[in-house]
Amino acid sequence: MVGMMFCLALTAGESAKAQSVNNQEEQVHISAARTAGDLKQARFVLDISGPMPFTAFLLQKPYRLVMDLPAVSFEMAQGIAQVERGLVSNFRFGVINEGRSRVVLDLKGPARIAKAFGLPSVDGNPARAVVELEAVSEQQFTASSLQEVLHVGRNGKRSSQSKLVESVPLPRARAKNGRPVVVLDPGHGGIDTGAVSASGVKESALVLKFAKVLKKHLEAEAGVQVILTRESDKFISLGGRVNFAQAREADLFISIHADSVRESYVRGATVYTLSDRASDQVSAQLAQRENRSDLLAGMHIEEEDDVVADILISLTRRETANHSALYSRTLVGALKNSVRLSKTPARSAGFRVLKAPDIPSVLLELGFLSNRQDQSALTSKAWQEKAIRSIVASVKRFFAKRGSQQTGLLGPSKPRG
Ligand SMILES: [Zn+2]
Repeated sequence: MVGMMFCLALTAGESAKAQSVNNQEEQVHISAARTAGDLKQARFVLDISGPMPFTAFLLQKPYRLVMDLPAVSFEMAQGIAQVERGLVSNFRFGVINEGRSRVVLDLKGPARIAKAFGLPSVDGNPARAVVELEAVSEQQFTASSLQEVLHVGRNGKRSSQSKLVESVPLPRARAKNGRPVVVLDPGHGGIDTGAVSASGVKESALVLKFAKVLKKHLEAEAGVQVILTRESDKFISLGGRVNFAQAREADLFISIHADSVRESYVRGATVYTLSDRASDQVSAQLAQRENRSDLLAGMHIEEEDDVVADILISLTRRETANHSALYSRTLVGALKNSVRLSKTPARSAGFRVLKAPDIPSVLLELGFLSNRQDQSALTSKAWQEKAIRSIVASVKRFFAKRGSQQTGLLGPSKPRG
């Protein structure tokens, strides 16, 4: 059986390797992208500044073509209208990890890659990376296309073919010197920017900056060790974020977001914990949107609709849920003295990023970028300082409470590997 994470979720080592390879070559610029063809056959073309190796593969649910490229710069003047035609219904591109970029095309139906190749620059025309698609039946797709990765070399020729393989789990963390480990998880990044406000503020950039400042204060004032799931604008899958926290034996996981919701009147900080049934309709929609992150980025995800229900069953998990609820209350209590909270500040829904069975986890919406007042609060230094002071206080209080509770499985006497 294959797990949820595939080779696309790069480990730190792999990404470093990709980076060093890339540094030896000049960065490729992509100046245009277009699709020609119809619903039966389509040819997708990227205009590129020079030779570029790439890989291409297909995914289903929904059907997508993914092209993985070295770190390129996208400088496309034309709109996406030239791509979204024929078999192609949707087009995204961006950084997927340090040293790597990705293009994702949503397809209108099952297809196979008929050809993938590169063309050199001729007569002043730019070099090109080309993928040709052919519509196939669902059965044909399942039989052949899925999980096949085509590699095209710098010379434009198909170099090899491989299968999508499961990623290797991250190595266990080293000893922790007795300080609790808090993993801060700035939401979204890279190809998935998250919410974007009317004035262009990006959730992924806002929460990253916030998390970096918060880390400094937590380490200086709360006696904890803090690790960020990402320090730059890169994509990490939801499962990758959970694995990251587990590999580092986190004692607390805080995912930080500033999302948009359809209801633009919704505003104020909100703390979410995991539940199989959402506390309200807005939360249900929010979790659904958040859980689409991997899909948007062209990750191969397994069906796992029952996963949230499952993880609430076992004893460890119930214990973890209690601790998550304890931290949620502590955080809401601290925030309420300093910043505006939403009408119901403690909510729950099926967020996949909160599913570590053994780590108390919350998702903090600093506020909502879909609300104008929230947007100006969140981008002001005064607001950020107040919020950070409260979060630091909540973390201190949480570990103090837990220290005095001695609650079995997750108590402070937990052995360290
Ligand atoms: Zn978000």
